[in-house]
Amino acid sequence: MDARVKPAQDARFGVMRAMSQGIGNGGCLCGAIRFQADGAPTWVAHCHCGTCRRATGAPVTTYAGFPRDRVRFVKGTPRTFASSPGVTRSFCGGCGTPLAYASERWPDEIHLFVVSFDDATALRPQAHVNMAEQMPWLTIHDDLPRYATFPNSA
Ligand SMILES: [Zn+2]
Ligand SMILES: [Zn+2]
Repeated sequence: MDARVKPAQDARFGVMRAMSQGIGNGGCLCGAIRFQADGAPTWVAHCHCGTCRRATGAPVTTYAGFPRDRVRFVKGTPRTFASSPGVTRSFCGGCGTPLAYASERWPDEIHLFVVSFDDATALRPQAHVNMAEQMPWLTIHDDLPRYATFPNSA
């Protein structure tokens, strides 16, 4: 395992400072589903877990976590799939674009995919999580903190 991987007991992600303003709009590839997220996300992170990989068809997935009451689907209704017990993944039934992740582990949060936002450039990732499951051929050179699983959800 990468020597930079930090144990899961570390403090949670730092405070999101990059995006303290504005409304985030986004949606799926075909345009049938649109969402609106109000205000800044609680955190932004790259996930390297195998389930996200299967669900998205990509070696790494980048999420923005929001309080559930600040995210609304304003056009269309996503379909849902329980990818693990207590986990609901939402996607567009028309084009298949993954749209959201929700887990009983974080009942007050909804995780949106950063690159589904119309302007994803302001949503800068703060960390890598689930590094223990990283694809060995994927090398990302950045200075972000890396966690074997997750930082503490305090
Ligand atoms: Zn769609
Ligand atoms: Zn994941």
